[in-house]
Amino acid sequence: MSHQNTLVTDVCIVGAGPSGAVTSMQLSKLEIPHIIIDKAVFPRDKTCGDGLILYAYKALKLLDEDVFNTFLKHPKVLHSKSIKLHINNDHFINFRETPDRDSIISYAKRMDFDNFLVEHLNDKFAHQIFGDEVKRIKGELDHVEVQLKSGQIIRSKLIVGADGIQSVVARKLAKRKIPKHQMSTFINAYYSGVVGQPEDLEAEIRIYYHKIPLFFYIFPLADGDVNVSLGGNTENIQKCDINLKEVLEEILTTHPKVKSRFIDAKREGNWRGWGIPYHFFDQKAYGNRFLLVGDAAGLANPFYKEGVGTGMMSGIICANKIKECIENNAYLANDLKDYQWSLNSEFGKLLKFSGRSLRLSYYRRPFAYFARIFKRYVERKTPDLVKRRSY
Ligand SMILES: Cc1cc2nc3c(=O)[nH]c(=O)nc-3n(C[C@H](O)[C@H](O)[C@H](O)COP(=O)(O)OP(=O)(O)OC[C@H]3O[C@@H](n4cnc5c(N)ncnc54)[C@H](O)[C@@H]3O)c2cc1C
Repeated sequence: MSHQNTLVTDVCIVGAGPSGAVTSMQLSKLEIPHIIIDKAVFPRDKTCGDGLILYAYKALKLLDEDVFNTFLKHPKVLHSKSIKLHINNDHFINFRETPDRDSIISYAKRMDFDNFLVEHLNDKFAHQIFGDEVKRIKGELDHVEVQLKSGQIIRSKLIVGADGIQSVVARKLAKRKIPKHQMSTFINAYYSGVVGQPEDLEAEIRIYYHKIPLFFYIFPLADGDVNVSLGGNTENIQKCDINLKEVLEEILTTHPKVKSRFIDAKREGNWRGWGIPYHFFDQKAYGNRFLLVGDAAGLANPFYKEGVGTGMMSGIICANKIKECIENNAYLANDLKDYQWSLNSEFGKLLKFSGRSLRLSYYRRPFAYFARIFKRYVERKTPDLVKRRSY
């Protein structure tokens, strides 16, 4: 596979977060040797709300029933059958799983969940390079060349950009930037000593109007802490000069449905902020000799911000496409364009609906009105909808 300082392979994945790790696991399942690189050494942390829903379950189950079952029994993962979306202080929609199924949402710190995935990489097919960063990428006619910080060079027929919102693969090969109106900015922190949390570990999501609709989440965790996060559309947060940290502290100390639980709570560590991109419909997730997955492809849900699950599922779709590329020795943009269609047919309807819901939420009263009218219908349909898109 190597000569001098150059490693040669068919497929190189940049990034071993959920999207890259699942791409690698599916490639291994298809017995395709590849290289996977991450600048971090695992376990590593990632700013996140730590909630896993829909496509996270679907991807794990499709990959391997045993891995899915290990996940369900993992001591660092919690599960709940209920998510409450509070439209305002006296109105909510309750998304509930039926008693015969395991959960509608799971919670795991990314430190643990991403490490769980990386531990399942297959040493036989996945050559893992961790703790070394991709610094340079050059697309040539018959290969892509990657240079790492250490000086190591990797030459591959195809490269997968699984390197998150600031993807170097997307920037260098697709020559793109993410527009601020198609991303969210979120901050989060862990709190200990929170009291009066629901016993069924229900997920609490609140739409909080502060010039624009912001989304506030409280998710419980296995170590007794809770993950608190808040965010909204990046462009509007900047335009309206919103200080997320101040708003979040205001919610924790003054919100009538929240404050009593946080009186003696203590923030563990600093506030952390990061972006969540949802530009999938406006930018191609492929090009000559590259495919993008997860955040690099802008696949997060605009409304409820699922990005882990959609990223994982895109990894499976991507690996299946790669198998076809290798069989046909075809790696150019024209050969890869049906990857976009496959992503669209998996996620398109839900992402579009979520984008429309987000836009409607800017009209506070009409949004609350529609939420009230459709509450019963949505709650009744939840189990079906979840079943179709998860496990
Ligand atoms: C505050 C906040 C809360 C969120 N809450 C949720 C939630 O509750 N549920 C949910 O589903 N989603 C949530 N998201 C979104 C979610 O975190 C992302 O969508 C998800 O992490 C995307 O996974 P990924 O594998 O595509 O990218 P990432 O998880 O970002 O992984 C990218 C990997 O690439 C590596 N990398 C990057 N650049 C390089 C390079 N040059 N060389 C080598 N390696 C590189 C990184 O080290 C990293 O390991 C939240 C996001 C934020 C900011």
